Amino acid sequence: MTGGIKRPAGFAKEGIDLPVSIIRVPWLIPRWARAQVWGRVILLRRGVEISEQLLAHELAHVMQWRALGIFPFMFHYLMGLFRYGYQRHPLELEAQAAARQHDFLDWARDILAAGKTRLPD
Ligand SMILES: [Zn+2]
Repeated sequence: MTGGIKRPAGFAKEGIDLPVSIIRVPWLIPRWARAQVWGRVILLRRGVEISEQLLAHELAHVMQWRALGIFPFMFHYLMGLFRYGYQRHPLELEAQAAARQHDFLDWARDILAAGKTRLPD
């Protein structure tokens, strides 16, 4: 993988109807992670407040999993960590950009409005 990843505008559109699960977990690796995505499951560390921006960011990772496939995603993610670190990771930069896009924010808002994240904490 070289540089950033270009997705068409409306990358989120195909995901809008995708059921995602949000599960509270007591801990994550790395320990500072607030959330983590495995396929269509968003693991949210206990005590972390879920915001539209955080959810939009994680939804972008859901779409990355879909676009790349499970093993390529894991491979690219790990290789990217070694090569760029977390802050400059192309998949993280893409997710950060997605968290500012209306389509991802709308998707996140819909999920939150539907009460799908009312979880025991
Ligand atoms: Zn991320």
